[in-house]
Amino acid sequence: MGGGTPDDSGAAVLLSLARMNKIRAIDTENDTITVEAGCILANVQQAARDAGRLFPLSLAAEGSCTIGGNLATNAGGVQVLRYGNARDLCLGLEVVTPAGEIWDGLRGLRKDNTGYDLRDLFIGSEGTLGVITAATLKLFPLPAAQLTAFAAVPDVESAVALLNLAKRRLAASLTAFELISEFCLTLVDKHFPQSRRPLEARSPYYVLLESSDAESAEHAQALFESLMAEALESGLVTDAAVAASIAQSKAFWGLRENIPLAQAMEGKNIKHDIGVPISSIARYVDETNSALAQAAPGVRMVVFGHLGDGNLHYNVSPAEGADANAFMDSEPLVNRVVYDAVARHHGSISAEHGLGQLKREDNVRYKSPVELALMRSIKQALDPLGIMNPGKVLP
Ligand SMILES: Cc1cc2nc3c(=O)[nH]c(=O)nc-3n(C[C@H](O)[C@H](O)[C@H](O)COP(=O)(O)OP(=O)(O)OC[C@H]3O[C@@H](n4cnc5c(N)ncnc54)[C@H](O)[C@@H]3O)c2cc1C
Repeated sequence: MGGGTPDDSGAAVLLSLARMNKIRAIDTENDTITVEAGCILANVQQAARDAGRLFPLSLAAEGSCTIGGNLATNAGGVQVLRYGNARDLCLGLEVVTPAGEIWDGLRGLRKDNTGYDLRDLFIGSEGTLGVITAATLKLFPLPAAQLTAFAAVPDVESAVALLNLAKRRLAASLTAFELISEFCLTLVDKHFPQSRRPLEARSPYYVLLESSDAESAEHAQALFESLMAEALESGLVTDAAVAASIAQSKAFWGLRENIPLAQAMEGKNIKHDIGVPISSIARYVDETNSALAQAAPGVRMVVFGHLGDGNLHYNVSPAEGADANAFMDSEPLVNRVVYDAVARHHGSISAEHGLGQLKREDNVRYKSPVELALMRSIKQALDPLGIMNPGKVLP
């Protein structure tokens, strides 16, 4: 969203926190880890693993993104369904305020009702309220086994019904539930010809599920098999494959992770990161597909994302052979169709990517004047000189 890109005034100062990369403490009894903001996410995951614990925040950028950036954008990723997003995983923060003071809020408390939650103000503020320099994060037990399945579903409605069935059957061990449309896989086939589909037959949609079992691989397998048998019998699923090895599981995830890359290789496209209540998601996709087909005939919808969180990357590619630049000129129209539908379903125009520079004006359009005024008051109170990441989040 351009949150980390300076404005073109030529007067912006960039901060690198790369050297603030220490793990300050691990407390395995309290299940917390305290890290500096410049720590790479993958290094925090590894430090937790070395202590026999799981730090569950996981996303494709984990080899380069930092904890400070994760918290400043309230990153989501693939395990939000079970563990929550960056906000849910953070117990305490250390922040340098715009006045240059250090707020030491590195508390490892699960309960603390002592007034306004400053931590929650800084999380997701995209650097506009202060600089996060360290965080105390939650740890969890390492799962005994992880299992991945890939299932073909006839439509989004069936995918939502499968999600609810999986929640009942797998309970807390259901850690990921991703939706993928057939067109997404067609793009992956084309641009990553070495990748292999897990299922022969074509289906309008697919679902990638992951379970993280506290008991054993056998227990996970048995639960998954009975879930899939029930789903096949009731017609929610038309075909399914369970990964037989870690390599196969990685290949399933590779298909999902290569979708944005394949779409970029296909050419220009208009990206969205929308959130709607899970109960509305099937209607949202149907209505928006039809509205876009009318407003911009021939455009191709690239629909995938974290269905388990009600979050879709509802991206739009130009019609086959169409002029890409002319298509990009239609971005305001396409965004209006997509976001008006989000608003009708009481959703969010940015579920996990923030506002940065690219969505600040859209946010003004869809948030109430009361909410915007409160946001401006907070910015004014904490950063009266407007020196923190100017021009981001609020216009
Ligand atoms: C390949 C790829 C896949 C991704 N997949 C997902 C996904 O599945 N789910 C998801 O939620 N996100 C995803 N993202 C986005 C990802 O969450 C963010 O890119 C990442 O969390 C930002 O961390 P960063 O260190 O790169 O921050 P930067 O890009 O450097 O900064 C991001 C924002 O945070 C601010 N910021 C950074 N550090 C601090 C700090 N210490 N204090 C205050 N403000 C700060 C910056 O000013 C900027 O506004 C993906 C990104 C990539 C590149």
